[in-house]
Amino acid sequence: MRNVRALSSLILWAAALTPFTAPASGETIACSRGLELELSNREPSQGQIVVMTVKGQPRTELRASWSGRELYFWGNDDQPFTLIGVDLQSRPGSYPLTVDARLASGESVGCSTELTVRDGGFPVQRLNVDDRDVELSQEDLARSQRETDQLLRIFRTTTPAALWDGSFESPLEHAKASGSFGKRRILNDQPRSPHSGEDFSVPAGTPVHAPQRGRVVMASDLFFTGNTVVIDHGLGLYTFYAHLQSMAVEIGATVSTGDLLGRVGATGRVTGPHLHWAARLNDTRVDPLELLSISASPTSPNPTTSR
Ligand SMILES: [Zn+2]
Repeated sequence: MRNVRALSSLILWAAALTPFTAPASGETIACSRGLELELSNREPSQGQIVVMTVKGQPRTELRASWSGRELYFWGNDDQPFTLIGVDLQSRPGSYPLTVDARLASGESVGCSTELTVRDGGFPVQRLNVDDRDVELSQEDLARSQRETDQLLRIFRTTTPAALWDGSFESPLEHAKASGSFGKRRILNDQPRSPHSGEDFSVPAGTPVHAPQRGRVVMASDLFFTGNTVVIDHGLGLYTFYAHLQSMAVEIGATVSTGDLLGRVGATGRVTGPHLHWAARLNDTRVDPLELLSISASPTSPNPTTSR
């Protein structure tokens, strides 16, 4: 185990800085019958979130999908919006975005366009280590696989209501992100899972706050990520907090923006205290910092009825 810790330490030391890319300016797509789609960005990078707002004609029904995934609408019926997550390993290229609406007049309107995914330009880190240094015992391997499955089951569950309201806040006060989201690691020429969250290097004991309202769906000690809290914000959006020294919430609790979730620590397979913050949106791995720049927000705690 000490060897795994040593490797994690090496990875932390080698963390490279990636500048955070602000979304490009928005664009409006005119569909037929006066229906409009407003997109925050038509050329998102891997790991980014695109906000799509539907405007124009009153509607009684609304369905949308991107890249084969169904999208969920938030906000009020006048201007429902959806968050489109671009997975950090989504292959660069164009993917169809379709919207089908039934207008109050009874007419059906279909609208389609494309979003073009750009390469995230994530740093690649090559490491050569003794294989024995990264091998897990059968017991640890079984445990970590069980926990990974449990997390995937959570992320693939969509709670059919928006639990958040307003803008997202940083879980830490005055902390700077390391820019480690998306970093690719190649260990002995074998690609490993990319880093799916953002690391914040802060002292142990620093309070971690809920960035928005939600329900705690995990508060457990996991093999890799130590004391881990997961919040369900509804409609397929989850945030994830790892390596906590202590957890201040229990499964099932509802948290509001700013509530204490726990304190920064070094639990799990790490050597130094830091917060690993991650976000999942409809089972895509997105940069959690993207949440902080979403300007649209639901104006009611319930999702639009148009699904
Ligand atoms: Zn991390």
